[in-house]
Amino acid sequence: MGPEEIKRRCEEVLRKVPEHVTILAATKGRASEEVRAAIAAGIAHIGENYVQEALSKRPKVPDPATWHMIGRLQRNKARKALEVFDWVQTLDSLRLAERLERLLSQGGEELPVLVEVNIGREPQKAGVMPEQLPDFLRELSRFPHLRVKGLMAIPPVPEDPEDSRPYFREMRRLFEALSREGIPGVRMEVLSMGMSADWEVAVDEGATMIRLGTLLFGPRP
Ligand SMILES: *Cc1c(COP(=O)(O)O)cnc(C)c1O
Repeated sequence: MGPEEIKRRCEEVLRKVPEHVTILAATKGRASEEVRAAIAAGIAHIGENYVQEALSKRPKVPDPATWHMIGRLQRNKARKALEVFDWVQTLDSLRLAERLERLLSQGGEELPVLVEVNIGREPQKAGVMPEQLPDFLRELSRFPHLRVKGLMAIPPVPEDPEDSRPYFREMRRLFEALSREGIPGVRMEVLSMGMSADWEVAVDEGATMIRLGTLLFGPRP
């Protein structure tokens, strides 16, 4: 799809999505001119799955945008990830948290993070199991440079958008329950869930951020 068509689609989606919901453009595999077109349309958040891809793309996208890591982050890529990402949405292990904390404490900067939840309990998928969330979040309050802002989830691939509803509903329940727990240093402000196939259901169930790829850019190359 050309930049004009991408811009048109982004503007259309921005009109449709309620104002309290943030749209993140998931740009894996997209060229930097495609990313620029989305930003020109008013998309302010970019999500990338690979550190290297983000490093090569971001310098070619001069416009202001916030870049989020939405793919699995390996500990040996943490240093590079901090060079290019403003947020990490896929924090799911203490070892990764320790690594990030150590790097961040050297520079004194804070990193907003979301904790990824394996809401579908899929063995091959990343994420903290729901019942482990309270303990995990309490452990994270040991890391002063990690700003826990909320939760992120990628439920099982739905055949029908409605298939995702119970997962989204459970995520919202966890989000609110954890917010009430008032764990020191933990704020529940962002609930990142919903992709092109099921974003409307996600918004319905209380997502505050949706991550869209194909809806904005067309089928993946
Ligand atoms: C690719 C991707 C998306 C967007 O997927 P679409 O179905 O193309 O909208 C959202 N979140 C993550 C983590 C992704 O990897």
